Amino acid sequence: MRPATLEERVPLARYTTLGTGGPARWFAAPETLDELLELLAWASAEDVAVAAVGLGSNLLVADDGFPGLALKLKGELAAARADGDLLVAGGGAPLAVCLHRARAAGLGGLEFACAIPGTVGGAVWMNAGAYGGDLAGVLERALVASASGAEWLTPDELGLRYRRSGLRPGQVVARAELRLRSRPVEEIKATVAEMQARRKAAQPTNKRTFGSVFKNPEHELSAGRLLEACGLRGHAIGGAVISPMHANFIENAGDARSADAVALIAEARRRALERFGVRLEPEVQLLGALEIPPLPDGT
Ligand SMILES: Cc1cc2nc3c(=O)[nH]c(=O)nc-3n(C[C@H](O)[C@H](O)[C@H](O)COP(=O)(O)OP(=O)(O)OC[C@H]3O[C@@H](n4cnc5c(N)ncnc54)[C@H](O)[C@@H]3O)c2cc1C
Repeated sequence: MRPATLEERVPLARYTTLGTGGPARWFAAPETLDELLELLAWASAEDVAVAAVGLGSNLLVADDGFPGLALKLKGELAAARADGDLLVAGGGAPLAVCLHRARAAGLGGLEFACAIPGTVGGAVWMNAGAYGGDLAGVLERALVASASGAEWLTPDELGLRYRRSGLRPGQVVARAELRLRSRPVEEIKATVAEMQARRKAAQPTNKRTFGSVFKNPEHELSAGRLLEACGLRGHAIGGAVISPMHANFIENAGDARSADAVALIAEARRRALERFGVRLEPEVQLLGALEIPPLPDGT
């Protein structure tokens, strides 16, 4: 039976930090695990693709949308609370809220997340990290829901690696438990303030972007430095522009389309290969009919 919470043709641009992309054919905002499992079972029975959308801070949605079911976790699936030295959070809980709860409880270890504008679920999917910390370092276990039910998985079972996990479309992080440690509130505040100041000085934090475009390659230069050396700072296609401040960011200059961002990604990969022999791997996740064109050598 069709779940009552299903909506149709909901624009996804409002759910991404870049602010581009078309509608989801189906959309729902489950608030409990039962609601989420009902939606996943329906999608499986109807052969509809599923994608969770967190804060859309690492997401590029096709301009003609996503012909599947987009899920935005809300209610108890987006809440967070401290329990002893565990931080128990819904997959849809913003990392900022988790950090706030942890700090209020005098729990440290999640300070690195102050630089990451995503949710717990998106951070598990990406094994998000910054300043030497990442999700794998604090995650005790995650409750992963799919059409066949829900199960708790450890970081090893989730296959967390540098900016990726082994999770597959149709698997949704419903909850997570993060193991933190006692730390004085003033120390937590000082660490966060210092990290945020470093961020503000180095990255276009006040622009509409989706964070790092590429993972850092195995090279003495970071992706940003390679692209800067390729002369790409400020390079624009349509309404998308490679950040004049940090070349591993793409900004929406006002009227960008996702296709503009894809064209910039392709151009940046081509130039990095030509100049440095480096094959840059996108960090941003694609949703819908979007494809990064192959490099001239076919890779
Ligand atoms: C200014 C800026 C700075 C950033 N800095 C960093 C940084 O320092 N380090 C870093 O690692 N990242 C950084 N990012 C990228 C981004 O914030 C992280 O990747 C974040 O973890 C994405 O979380 P999200 O909830 O926004 O996920 P989304 O962007 O919404 O989704 C990303 C992927 O996760 C999946 N997903 C989302 N929620 C769930 C869920 N509940 N269950 C299963 N899958 C899910 C989506 O389907 C998609 O494939 C930055 C982004 C911006 C805009």
